[in-house]
Amino acid sequence: MSSKQTIKITGADEAVARFAQDAVNVLTGADYNLELQFYLDYRCDQNCRGCYDRDIAKICKGSIPSWDIAHFVRHFKDVENYASKTCITGGEATLRPTDELGYIIQKILSSGSAVELKTNATWVNDTQKAKEMWRMLSGLKVSKALLYKEPDEIEKFVKTIPNLKQLSQEERWSKLTEHFPEVSAFRLAVSVDNIIHQEYSAYDFAKVALHVTNSPELSEKIDLGVVTMTNSYDWFSEKIFGNPDLKCTNIRKNCQRFDFKLNGRPVIGVISNFYNVNSLVKPISSIEELLRRESKDSRPRLILCFHPDRTVSFQYNFKPIGRVSYIADNGKYKSWETLCMEMAVQLTKDFAEARKQQFKKNYCRN
Ligand code: SF4
Repeated sequence: MSSKQTIKITGADEAVARFAQDAVNVLTGADYNLELQFYLDYRCDQNCRGCYDRDIAKICKGSIPSWDIAHFVRHFKDVENYASKTCITGGEATLRPTDELGYIIQKILSSGSAVELKTNATWVNDTQKAKEMWRMLSGLKVSKALLYKEPDEIEKFVKTIPNLKQLSQEERWSKLTEHFPEVSAFRLAVSVDNIIHQEYSAYDFAKVALHVTNSPELSEKIDLGVVTMTNSYDWFSEKIFGNPDLKCTNIRKNCQRFDFKLNGRPVIGVISNFYNVNSLVKPISSIEELLRRESKDSRPRLILCFHPDRTVSFQYNFKPIGRVSYIADNGKYKSWETLCMEMAVQLTKDFAEARKQQFKKNYCRN
């Protein structure tokens, strides 16, 4: 995509004009890995005290149609910096009828993208729903993928392959999967913390993890993941690493990431920073703040979020920002190129408004 495009915001001061140009340059450039996140809908079967979805749930009703998801995973296959990683979340994504959820996951996997399904896992306590979920998950056709490995780690290994240039794509792929055999293209990630979620999230994850790791069929195709909070990590360690039934070994932690083996199977963990959703979140001040880095050397990630009211946004401190409709006036889907420009305009307007409010606060106290 060309980065020569510009946007004009009427009456913009220098800082706003600079923000606008940066927004266009960064979004239309290719210096990041683009990932997709589908918020299937914002309904949830829990009522956690720290839920960060409540505000948006009030204005964002309905569900993303599965054909919208199928369209966008196809569309993004041709986008230069699309990293072929897709997250399905909610609310609680498993409230979607299980067969339809399975259809969505399979559609994304078949497009060549890896899928992470985020869940609160309370379904594991409902005998009927758990039966449906295990049946759906064991029916998925999942390939091995390297997408959840650090790109640097892959690059380092690739350099050690002799005669690399003479190998066909298939031969390279088979060398890679031989070396990284444990990574599946499907990950089931459970939220486990005692700040946003309920304390029983640890028990629900334990039940899910034991079921998966004790089933050769499921552990063959499902990778496990956990998402916890900075201030929950000690509690997490006590409840999970300290649970003798889970047999956790090889625990490694590096900033916002950790991994370990549970019952002999690898688990990837992510540690999120906690933001109190009831307090005012600082508005974005630079477009670079949208880019997430797992470590200082890794390539930044940009996550495009799809919402049930057929809008897209970026996520910033748990808030959706730069939100625009992904459906054009003629009823067709917008392209990534169009979305980029419209989102840059929306982000700039929000930035300009935040500056105006700050100015008023500083100079118009009466
Ligand atoms: S499980 Fe997640 S989405 Fe549901 S209420 Fe709790 S925090 Fe909110």
